[in-house]
Amino acid sequence: MSTTLIRGAKLLGGEPTDVLIDGETVAAVGAGLTAPEGSTVVEAEGLVALPGLVDLHTHLREPGREDSETVLTGTRAAAVGGYTAVHAMANTFPVADTAGVVEQVWRLGRESGYCDVQPVGAVTVGLEGNKLAELGAMAESAAAVRVFSDDGKCVDDAVIMRRALEYVKAFDGVVAQHAQEPRLTEGAQMNEGAVSGELGLRGWPAVAEESIIARDVLLAAHVGSRVHICHLSTAGSVEIVRWAKSKGWNVTAEVTPHHLLLTDELVRTYNPVYKVNPPLRTEADVMALREALADGTIDCVATDHAPHPHEDKDCEWGAAAMGMVGLETALSVVQHTMVDTGLLDWAGVADRMSLRPAAIGRLAGHGRPVAAGEPANLTLVDPAYRGVVNPAGFASRSRNTPYEGLELPGRVTATFLRGKATVMDGKLT
Ligand SMILES: [Zn+2]
Repeated sequence: MSTTLIRGAKLLGGEPTDVLIDGETVAAVGAGLTAPEGSTVVEAEGLVALPGLVDLHTHLREPGREDSETVLTGTRAAAVGGYTAVHAMANTFPVADTAGVVEQVWRLGRESGYCDVQPVGAVTVGLEGNKLAELGAMAESAAAVRVFSDDGKCVDDAVIMRRALEYVKAFDGVVAQHAQEPRLTEGAQMNEGAVSGELGLRGWPAVAEESIIARDVLLAAHVGSRVHICHLSTAGSVEIVRWAKSKGWNVTAEVTPHHLLLTDELVRTYNPVYKVNPPLRTEADVMALREALADGTIDCVATDHAPHPHEDKDCEWGAAAMGMVGLETALSVVQHTMVDTGLLDWAGVADRMSLRPAAIGRLAGHGRPVAAGEPANLTLVDPAYRGVVNPAGFASRSRNTPYEGLELPGRVTATFLRGKATVMDGKLT
């Protein structure tokens, strides 16, 4: 069993302390720890130690679209970003709607060794919205699925949604909704508002998201189940989630890094790198999302990492695929928008990017405090670092980042997955 002594890291941004890792477990946390002979010593002065990050919303693309990402390249990107666990969305080819497919994805994650992969099961067969998938079989499989989502598509049929919410109660599961009323967003290309009017692009109204969220929090309350709302993007969505939580209903929500920073003004460039679902909204929406993440109305940051090959993004706006990569830049964007603005401290970042997403996904062994006896999943970040985003250096197979050329703060210098360094000195091991 190997031992590692991390010396002088600011745990959750607090006073410098040492962390001793023995095998897969944190053995001790405190000042002046001594390293047993043969230990690896990591000098961490100035670095912030966080529990390993957990993503509730990642598209790994395997099986079926290995030209954009694989479980291996996606988990390497995750490790670079400070993640020790990611939830892999079900919209693969074939769709992850059976025990067989979710077990395959889960096993590929274990084999990668860079980051745990927790598959998300589809709610409906083939993501077609008509018939419930084998939710129970996926829950009982080796992958022990607890999060179910048709992400990419909305479960728009209210009866199907009600049945799914009722069904997942049996195994403490959760339905993660991609809230997009399909009829209101037919052919939509960007946020509906002043900019879409000027550009003459078909708009995507906020009400298309908000009406589904309103329905689903009411449904979840009605059947006594829990619902999670993916990628909140509007101020109105925040208001509905806040109201549902004030009622004591079991509702959780996530926001992506890009919705915390970017606005629909960027669509004026017609650069499809800014085309994403849900679309970039207005400055007022961005500010409402930041405040809601700070006050806990929004539970967590989820990347919605959506890799696309060059040919699917490097084309005219109308034909381009929707989505952005995000695993390798998420923590920097959160530092920039939330920490450096004073809205959230590092303990808050640990809560929103590790503890809460792990709790929502019922993911054992992740999202735990950095304390003696806990699994040694942790991330060291250098908050003083400043660097320009260069997608050529990404571990992801895809390059569709909206931050190319932008200077962002912070850098993950090390990631430990059950005591094993997956990243050291900012590089994959
Ligand atoms: Zn989605």
